[in-house]
Amino acid sequence: MSNFNANDSKVRCGIYLCQVNEEISCGACCGLYNVVNPSYESIMEMLTWRTDTFSHVKREMDAILAFKEEVEDREPQERPFPDFHHCPYIGLVGKEHSRVGCLLHPLFDENKSIDFRGLSFYGGMACRVYFCPTYNNLPAVFKEIVRETASNWYAYGLVITEAKLLNTIFEEVAKRLNRPLTANSLLKNNGCLETVRELLDLKINWPFRRKTSSGPANYFFEDQLYSRPSINYEAIGGSVSRHDILLQELESQFNSANELHAAEDLIDGLINKVIGQVDRLKTEG
Ligand code: SF4
Repeated sequence: MSNFNANDSKVRCGIYLCQVNEEISCGACCGLYNVVNPSYESIMEMLTWRTDTFSHVKREMDAILAFKEEVEDREPQERPFPDFHHCPYIGLVGKEHSRVGCLLHPLFDENKSIDFRGLSFYGGMACRVYFCPTYNNLPAVFKEIVRETASNWYAYGLVITEAKLLNTIFEEVAKRLNRPLTANSLLKNNGCLETVRELLDLKINWPFRRKTSSGPANYFFEDQLYSRPSINYEAIGGSVSRHDILLQELESQFNSANELHAAEDLIDGLINKVIGQVDRLKTEG
């Protein structure tokens, strides 16, 4: 898969999100994170095994279906979202196997241009035409910022489907900057880029995620089969937070008002750091 940017012109809203470059891609709609252990290490082990094993599989229907059985025997089949299909054909793609992708895709070298996606659960057509709600629900400038700042495919795929979270973060940054956000203003400074990355990585590292959460996986389909509970501020004697949407999207739970304030300070600290870095750049420029 080369010439990634050429795909921008082929998708709705002009920014291609699924395969960004050699290292950044997403497999969230294939259920990548809908696994018992969604840590980077565990998912990497799973994908590496699949990719290595699949490299010895004959490209014939029976062998490809037998591979699926082998994967499903080997891996726990309990899911945080039981009605969200997890595709056993997600693996590592690219010359160096440096990003997540589909082992049945025609551009996967060993498939010699043959599209085997018809053998998957959703079938080839669904895989070809599906685009997640982020394509419609996130402005192009925010998409660009996320594509450019993601630390790796794991972090990127977790956050890119979080349209509400991303809109809330970037709108808050723009509000405090008192002008519209441009990708350039955040990305042309390494310090700022690092801080935006830190802000987006809250999705992975959030210390206030409620104990009963199914982890960082996101059910983002529009049928809203699974939704995120609202935060019970009354239980800690507090009022609704100024960051209520962010806190809910991060699946937070607080045991005390102090914990809530610590969470708000953490978010404010990172947003203000971004503002400071953008403003400094403007002054120096
Ligand atoms: S979840 Fe969205 S960005 Fe990710 S692969 Fe699916 S359609 Fe592409």
